[in-house]
Amino acid sequence: MGRIIAIANQKGGVGKTTTSVNLSSCLAEKGKKVLTIDIDPQGNTTRGLGIDKRKLKYTIYELLLGQAPIKKCIIKNVFKNMSLIPADVDLAGAEIELIGLDENSFILKKHIEEVRDKYDYIIIDCPPSLSTLTVNALTTADTVLVPIQCEFFALEGLSQLMYTINLVKKRLNPNLEIEGVVFTMYDARTNLSIQVVDEVKKELKRTNIYKTIIPRNVRLGEAPSHGEPINIYDSKSKGAESYRLLADEVINRKDE
Ligand code: ADP
Ligand code: MG
Repeated sequence: MGRIIAIANQKGGVGKTTTSVNLSSCLAEKGKKVLTIDIDPQGNTTRGLGIDKRKLKYTIYELLLGQAPIKKCIIKNVFKNMSLIPADVDLAGAEIELIGLDENSFILKKHIEEVRDKYDYIIIDCPPSLSTLTVNALTTADTVLVPIQCEFFALEGLSQLMYTINLVKKRLNPNLEIEGVVFTMYDARTNLSIQVVDEVKKELKRTNIYKTIIPRNVRLGEAPSHGEPINIYDSKSKGAESYRLLADEVINRKDE
């Protein structure tokens, strides 16, 4: 049965989408069957995987509002071993439309149960908020992977995120675990990056912190505008190397 990993941090610009796209793609490269779910109205994961958002008939919006069955909402083989449930800006409205629905925190989970045995990994890219959409992702997930950008204020909001994860665990999804924390946009030339890593490690003593640290890498920033994950856009780049190592760690953690 596939492991469902939500990539979450309510801060924007910390590397959630970059991690969703490239971790998914590096898992797929290693022969794993992956379903990536874009549940952010910005649709950056959708765009990053080369899908033109303007042409989509069925997205996560239609799925959540019960307007289409999950099979119609999955785009198969966006890349080898990779499928996608895309998002577009309509999703922004779903937040309000979901309010009236019964069990509105469990809608995604209910649909994903139908297909989860087809995949080794299901990766959910969350929006930068602790909204109903994020709660749906956390309720569906087995684990949460938290990207932390190596910059000043990295710790800000982290306790709120941990609080939300614990609340979801208590009330909605008792099996939810923290997959781990991954540092992103690390710049070895700056003391700041080194300090942030030290501080977060001190703060999150009992949390799994990935050994792989994602460096700041120009190619990682360029890849989305070409609609390709990093291992396809520039297979030999530092960015590709580091996301491959992260994928290895994620795979090996399963067997612990
Ligand atoms: P989030 O989804 O958390 O908002 P993104 O993954 O979209 O964050 O990253 C924010 C911006 O930083 C994007 O323009 C992305 O291309 C860029 N970026 C992310 N990670 C890296 C990295 N390791 N090196 C260089 N640029 C990066
Ligand atoms: Mg994003």
